[in-house]
Amino acid sequence: MTSMLSFPRRALAFGAGAALLCWFALGQPAPAWQAAPALEVAGVPADVVRTVEGLRERALASPMAYELVEGLTTEVGPRLAGSPGEQRAISWAEQRLRALRFEAVRVEPFTIPFWERVSEKVSIIAPAPQDLVATALGGSGSTPEGGLEAEVVRFTSLEGLRAASRAQVAGKIVFIDEPTTRTQDGSGYGAGVAKRSLCAPVTQALGGVACLIRSVGTHSHRFAHQGGNARARNGAVLPAAAISPPDADQLSRLTARGPVRVRIAIKTESRDGVASGNVIAEVRGRERPDEIVLIGAHLDSWDQGTGALDDGAGVAIVTAAAKLIADLPRRPRRTIRVVLFGAEETGIHGAIAYAARHKDQLANHIVAAESDFGARKVFRFQTRFGPSALPAARAIQRLLAPLGIGPGDNNAFGGPDVTPLREAGVPVVNLAQNGWDYFDFHHTPNDTLDKIDKEELAQNVAAYVVFAYLAAEMDWDFRKAG
Ligand SMILES: [Zn+2]
Repeated sequence: MTSMLSFPRRALAFGAGAALLCWFALGQPAPAWQAAPALEVAGVPADVVRTVEGLRERALASPMAYELVEGLTTEVGPRLAGSPGEQRAISWAEQRLRALRFEAVRVEPFTIPFWERVSEKVSIIAPAPQDLVATALGGSGSTPEGGLEAEVVRFTSLEGLRAASRAQVAGKIVFIDEPTTRTQDGSGYGAGVAKRSLCAPVTQALGGVACLIRSVGTHSHRFAHQGGNARARNGAVLPAAAISPPDADQLSRLTARGPVRVRIAIKTESRDGVASGNVIAEVRGRERPDEIVLIGAHLDSWDQGTGALDDGAGVAIVTAAAKLIADLPRRPRRTIRVVLFGAEETGIHGAIAYAARHKDQLANHIVAAESDFGARKVFRFQTRFGPSALPAARAIQRLLAPLGIGPGDNNAFGGPDVTPLREAGVPVVNLAQNGWDYFDFHHTPNDTLDKIDKEELAQNVAAYVVFAYLAAEMDWDFRKAG
């Protein structure tokens, strides 16, 4: 923590408000503002600032979010989209939200194309027989009974595969051996998603028989990372699997020495029209209940771990933040709507169902945000607002600053499940978390409760409570263009 005493003399001359802006302009860490009384924020009444400060302190002291994620991961566990586990998660969430006395608690059902792994085995047959740690990718087809066996052709990127000739790939197992870059903001994930999604269809188009990828992950542990994979356009689905990073290293060293034969045996099941649902709860606004501030997360997970980071943490963060606001003596003007989306991992099905069902109300969605990047501290506040709404973004950021949250750009993504809303013109924000180790655990058996730090989780709740309360209480129009 930095004390006020170390504040630059030059900045002090401008008074507290301007000094705060200078501090961030200088790129310094946030000082301990909590102690400073009566922070003045342009356009925000003093009583609103006091309410925000109280909410922020209560959030930092509250164990509620940890209790929620502990409950979800313990009492439900894995919850693959469309599975009995997801159905139990939906019931669990509905019961918890009712017990917390939210309003308008409901499940909005929809159906999805269901897919699950039944079994997978990936083995090097020659020249050095051994089993590899692998997991079938979402959407993968099955191999013939007994598996398929072929020579491996290695590429170091998806672009390399795309540039390959049919003669290089036909009849072979493609191996895309592309590492994932570790970053704070998760920007290394995009290339990984492209590789994971497109390996099978590109391989199929070139006449290959199956696809293996180096796991989209930043750790060297011997876990394979799950994830979705696109179906080929003609409806046929090639077998596709991710192998753990050390197994990718092994396969890479062997292919450098000469021809390598691999056997892949994958069994998967899929069927259409399987039930999923979004679980919704509200804190109804006191003046304009039809205007909605949406904070969301997704309830489903992949099936190997218990989905603590992805996305039990997000479920806990947005629920706890909304509950703190519900417990205020006076509600904010607008409604805060918590949406716990179903079936995100297999294709944002819940997000698409929500946007379709509420299409006539999207103009009343004031702003939306999803927490879906683990449980590390929020470090940056990004927006996607109309240009004339940027003073509101600055005001919110100033009240987030005591949590160590700096200003970000106006190009926010919002989160996977708010994508259809963003595309429909709803303003979005990102309370961007530190994702430095997120892809160590993401979509692996190792995504479990012990990875969550209680204090960092509480900082996330504090960030959401500040943002959601201000967006619901203030008269801001985040679409404002001029
Ligand atoms: Zn997620």
